[in-house]
Amino acid sequence: MRLSNSMLRITAATALPRRARLPRHLGFGLLGARKTQGSRALHLAPPFLLDDYIPRYQLLPEVEAAKKRSRAYAHLRNCNLCPRLCGVNRYETTGMCLIGDKVKVNVIAPHFGEEPCIQGHNGSGSVFFSGCNLRCTFCQNYDISHRRNGFDLTPEELADWYLKLQDVGHVHNINLITPEHVVPQVALSILQARDLGLKLPIVYNTSAFDSLASLELLDGLVDIYLPDFKVWSQSASRRLLKADDYAAAATESIRAMHAQVGDLCFTADGIAKKGVLVRHLVMPGKEDEAREIMKFLAESVSRDTFVNIMEQYRPDAHVGKPKRRSGNNTDGQPEEVRYPEINRAITQDEVSAVRKAAEAVGLWRFCDPPKHDGFAI
Ligand code: SF4
Repeated sequence: MRLSNSMLRITAATALPRRARLPRHLGFGLLGARKTQGSRALHLAPPFLLDDYIPRYQLLPEVEAAKKRSRAYAHLRNCNLCPRLCGVNRYETTGMCLIGDKVKVNVIAPHFGEEPCIQGHNGSGSVFFSGCNLRCTFCQNYDISHRRNGFDLTPEELADWYLKLQDVGHVHNINLITPEHVVPQVALSILQARDLGLKLPIVYNTSAFDSLASLELLDGLVDIYLPDFKVWSQSASRRLLKADDYAAAATESIRAMHAQVGDLCFTADGIAKKGVLVRHLVMPGKEDEAREIMKFLAESVSRDTFVNIMEQYRPDAHVGKPKRRSGNNTDGQPEEVRYPEINRAITQDEVSAVRKAAEAVGLWRFCDPPKHDGFAI
């Protein structure tokens, strides 16, 4: 089924090209280079500033593109593309992610809920994939990830939507959200879109439950990796994500992502163009897990890793729901709920503890509201 035109939620208010307006502090010089009167600092360390940027898929030789296409089809016929290692033929059946050879998409739209350096003025061209290879008990996108609401699209149809986002939406990038279980289709769609004239950077917005095989397929196609790093311990992984060892997959994956594209870099308009941006959602009582994650990023990836410490946790999905076999008390209230340890909002103290832990290990590039009237770069 094709998406109807109304699915592409482009409205005058959200997506028509706005007059390009550089923040006041941009475009006048580099950090530490205030030489002439009236010049302003860019608040961006020179190693992370790009003069210009050409997406990696534009530079991929045709022979490499052909190899990637045939590898993508082979993976679909024997899918071991994520740590679930189902080994199924996705043209005939589905594995743990419950998605076959076509992707299922919930929404395609310019999106303004991302980091300022990703969404910019015109929005990030977001593609919300349905389904997921994790089963997070607290999933903040439950309807999309667990219930698989959406429309089936072929890689070719997906490529057409990238072009619409570029040409009609004037977005800053193509943002593939929860794509770990559809990497072959995503690779095919990027190659098709490149032939049709796509020129925007590709953002791979992942839970980091990826495999080296899928990241190898994406090498040369993705410009920005946007991994979540959720929990560290095996016990939290098993209980909250329903995966044996999430951190083992996430650490290996994030190192591989960084090896491909390095630290996050921007052009002078404040828009990120290449590199890794790691997100961590602060969770109730999980500061120790966060400390380990920050230590790993600083010691095993890069002290210059750009980190977004997110505060928007809320109990959702299965958290706080009545236990299936619990009775009711005399008030008719359920006596017990599922996952009670994370059934509350986070506190400011918990957020501060994670931030301090990150700074203590030497991380310094955070997604903070800018102190200088512009993007947080
Ligand atoms: S992508 Fe889906 S089918 Fe393939 S290994 Fe992962 S869960 Fe299984």
